[in-house]
Formats: sequence, structure tokens, C-alpha cells
Amino acid sequence: MKKLLSVLVVLVLTLQVQAQTQEKLPRVIILATGGTIAGAGASADRAGYTAGKIPIDDLIGTIPSVKKIASISGEQIASVGSQDMTIEIWKKLAIRANEIFAKNEADAIVVTHGTDTQEETAYFLDLVIPSDKPVVLTGSMRPATAISADGPKNLYDAITVAINPETKGRGVLVSFNEGIYDAREVMKMSTTKTDAFGSPNTGPIGQAYDGRVEYYSRAVREVNPPKPIVLTADTKLPRVDIVYMYADAPADQIDFLISKKVDGIVIAGVGNGNFNKAYMEAVKRAVKAGIIVCRASRAPSGRVVLHDEINDEELGTIVSDDLTAQKARVLLMLALTRTKDKKQLQEIFFTY
Ligand code: ASP
Repeated sequence: MKKLLSVLVVLVLTLQVQAQTQEKLPRVIILATGGTIAGAGASADRAGYTAGKIPIDDLIGTIPSVKKIASISGEQIASVGSQDMTIEIWKKLAIRANEIFAKNEADAIVVTHGTDTQEETAYFLDLVIPSDKPVVLTGSMRPATAISADGPKNLYDAITVAINPETKGRGVLVSFNEGIYDAREVMKMSTTKTDAFGSPNTGPIGQAYDGRVEYYSRAVREVNPPKPIVLTADTKLPRVDIVYMYADAPADQIDFLISKKVDGIVIAGVGNGNFNKAYMEAVKRAVKAGIIVCRASRAPSGRVVLHDEINDEELGTIVSDDLTAQKARVLLMLALTRTKDKKQLQEIFFTY
């Protein structure tokens, strides 16, 4: 009887200690959107699969040891391959993330996301989430059913990044294949390799490995971050499209967009945001029609310089600075909810 009693006491004490440790663990909410990390294929040795099939609770189940370092819960925001990412899902994600932080429901958020448009979502969230609490995106290149699936490791690393005290105040990050990337700089660099992301202008800002997180640098614009752009459920984002420039390109696409009365056009120009004479004439027509035209580049790194080969003041265009065309589109959509003044828009591109 005495023996039984002491066993019971030990059991109760152990449970109490466990409960206390659990309480003290950082709280992480995973907002899942689908992608290859939630992808399932018919066989382990074949590349074919369908993205966004596996629910978030099953993904968390693949990394049981994470329970020792964080108190995790998951919410399914969407189940799409990120080629089908939409502005509506972006808004849903951002509004839920802002609510989580406002109500202090979590200390950090991890977003699982397909890799194809991950950089756009990361930058969108970076622009509209004012909290300095960590938001970390991750995904995978191989579906959950593949040999050597990279999803569980990437998810575990993203959680370690999200709960690391050094991550606070760095804006939205992407954690992938042991690299940590700033949302503004990161870009998908490979169509199929597991080392899929890079930041061509700046390199990664840190590394996650063996459960450890180390930072090398801090993104310049995160040191004194500009005021976040306010986004509510009622915010209607203007239409901004991207046109890709190439040798001898006809300008029909620009004229089509003028006929569609879009609010903005980003041109992925050649080199320093250049385009040919046909584009030049069409851009003049677009500017005359009141469309904001932003010069970006199809080159993966470098800066598009104001008034270089093209006189932007004369032409009525703005430049993307060092943002890729796809990120310039995200910023222009959000910036247009604030102002239509070209000088102010240009200032936003130089500071955000
Ligand atoms: N097409 C997939 C997606 O973006 C690719 C991936 O997740 O790696 O959802």
C-alpha cells in the first residue's frame, strides 16, 4: 500500500512538472496554406504529386520532438499549391496573424506555404504586419510522401527560428534548407532543388541547424522599419500587372492592360529596367491614361536606377529600386491604397 502511494506521488509530481514546462514553452501557431510540404504523391520514388493534400495536424505529427521546445497548434488557412495563391488568401493570412498578435494568442507564427510564390506572400505579410513578434514562412521541395522529404526538417527549423529570441524585430522571414532569408530579399532560385531559395543581393541573414539558430546580419530596412501599411478586411487592393520585356517585344500587352484600365503596370525590363521603342510609346500611353508604371528588371539582382538610360521624370515612370518585378507589384498594390502621388510612391519604393 505504502509502495503504491509513493508511486502515485511520484506520478503526480512528474505530471505537474511536465505541465509547468509545457506552460512555459513559447507558443507557436502554424498557419497552413498548402504547398508541396503538404503534398502527397502516389509513390515515394516518383516526382509527381498533388500539393496541399495533407492537413497541418498531420504535418506537425511528423516532428514529435518539437513538443519539447514549443507549444504548437495549427490552423488551416488554405490548401492550395502556391501557384494558386490569391490576394484573398493573403488578406486572410495577414488579418489572422494580426489578430493572433493583438490578442496575444501566440509568441510567434509559422506559415507553411508552397515555394512558387512564397517570396511574394512573405513580402506582403512583411508590409502589413506591424508586430515585432516573429513570422517565419517555410515549405518544401519534395512532397511528404517522397524519399528524403525535406518538409519535416524545414518545419522544425522554421519553428526553432520563430522561437529564437534573436528573431524578434526582424520582420517576416523565410526559413528554408537551413538558410534564413529576409522577406524583402528572398527569391526562389531553383525549380526543383531542395536548396531552392536565395537572396541574390544580400545573401541569407542567418542559418538554422541542429536546433540552433545563428544570425550573420540584419536587413538594412528592418533596422528602422517604415510604418506598416494598414490592411483591413475592407481594403480593396488595386489591380497591378507585370509585363515582361524581351528582344523585339511588341507592346500589345501594355495596350491590352490600358484597355483593362488597370491601376498599375510593373515592367520587368531588361538590364537597368530598360525597354524598347515600342514599349516606350506604350508606356507613354499608359502614363497618359493615369496608370502608374514602375520600371523593374528581369535581371535577378541589382538596382533599377532612376533617370539612368531612361529619364523617369520626363516619361512619368517610377523605379522599383532593388525589388524584383513580382515584389514591386506587391508593394505597388499596397502603396496605391495610400497615395497615387508619384513622388510619394517613389519615396515608398526607396524606403520599404
Ligand atoms: N507548386 C508548389 C507550390 O508552390 C511547389 C512547392 O511548394 O514547392 O505550392
